[in-house]
Amino acid sequence: MERLQKVIAHAGITSRRKAEQMILEGKVKVNGKVVKELGVKVSDQDRIEVEGIPLEREEPVYLLLYKPTGVISAAKDDKGRKVVTDFFPYIKQRIYPIGRLDYDTSGLLLLTNDGDFANSLMHPRYEVEKTYVAKLKGIPPREKIKQLEKGIHLEDGKTAPAVIKVLSIDKKKQTSIVEITIHEGRNRQVRRMFEAIGYQVQKLKRERYAFLDLKGLATGDSRELTPHEVKQLR
Ligand code: URA
Repeated sequence: MERLQKVIAHAGITSRRKAEQMILEGKVKVNGKVVKELGVKVSDQDRIEVEGIPLEREEPVYLLLYKPTGVISAAKDDKGRKVVTDFFPYIKQRIYPIGRLDYDTSGLLLLTNDGDFANSLMHPRYEVEKTYVAKLKGIPPREKIKQLEKGIHLEDGKTAPAVIKVLSIDKKKQTSIVEITIHEGRNRQVRRMFEAIGYQVQKLKRERYAFLDLKGLATGDSRELTPHEVKQLR
């Protein structure tokens, strides 16, 4: 037996909080009767309807993909381009990515059909640490790196402090490889942070998401998260 709002969130249609709201608003029926209290528990056998539509009960699934570049972080694309869910033809549930990586960014991306899990990981208050490796055009001096470490003004506000390591520099080619760890998830944030100090990102890869990394995976590979990993991320 599971709480009604959790079952609705697991079906991938909304978050647990929104499911609670829908219950309170009388939009949810169990076995044909409106349920307006939040404590109700349901079993696999109960028939649930949300706004008149029968809920398709789906097993929650938690996946880790090593996203290649040239793939859209979405479940579908209007222009018919390759999307991250194309890597999981055998998954019958309606999965979607947790947050996004740019079309031209590679690296670690999680996917799920558990709305509650996805929302809690993306909530700014609980934003997890993400580590990226960027190839920059040019070699930023220490003072510039320090600006990013402290936080820098972007058009959507100041960034939180970042942790940065310069991994290597190529003086001949005038490029550098820099590791940056942030816990926010704004649109094109890493690219914009480096642009703000005058350096263009030529390549970007997400190496880590919380305690997860890409060990043992090649680009395009994926695996399921273990129950222990899912528990740790909650
Ligand atoms: N920051 C970016 O600029 N791009 C990404 O894909 C992820 C973080």
